[in-house]
Amino acid sequence: MRYDSDNIFAKILRGEIPSFKVYEDDKTLCFMDIMPRVPGHCLVIPKTSCVNILDATPAQLSACMETVNKVANGAMKAFDADGITLQQFSEAAGGQEVFHLHFHILPRHEGQKVGPHGVMGDMDEIKANGEKLTAALG
Ligand code: 5GP
Repeated sequence: MRYDSDNIFAKILRGEIPSFKVYEDDKTLCFMDIMPRVPGHCLVIPKTSCVNILDATPAQLSACMETVNKVANGAMKAFDADGITLQQFSEAAGGQEVFHLHFHILPRHEGQKVGPHGVMGDMDEIKANGEKLTAALG
């Protein structure tokens, strides 16, 4: 699939639509998922264009993984989590809905189920969880 620069995450990167930013460096951005499947669900994306795991360069992947590692450790602290689920979907058949590479970070508690896909979260709660996560990264 070719990269479409009008995808939602490209718009977030350009500041054309708002997001609850958690962390950024020169190569990656982490922000909260607005349809969280667990409290604290956030996304890590590269700042440069690629569709998914299939066209990503090693440099894009390693930059994302560095940020995933940092944010995952922050999420363990911020949400007193017992573990982390990391998800990545590539192509529609693989479950991808937004076609800019992203990694889902889901802080998990023992026995906690992951909620359904596509249910809009409470914005105040998402904002508060984003702030908690940012503070834990401090
Ligand atoms: P995918 O299935 O492509 O891996 O997941 C895309 C994710 O993006 C979903 O978890 C969905 O909730 C999230 N998402 C979709 N639209 C927006 C948006 O406008 N802002 C944010 N922050 N997340 C979004």
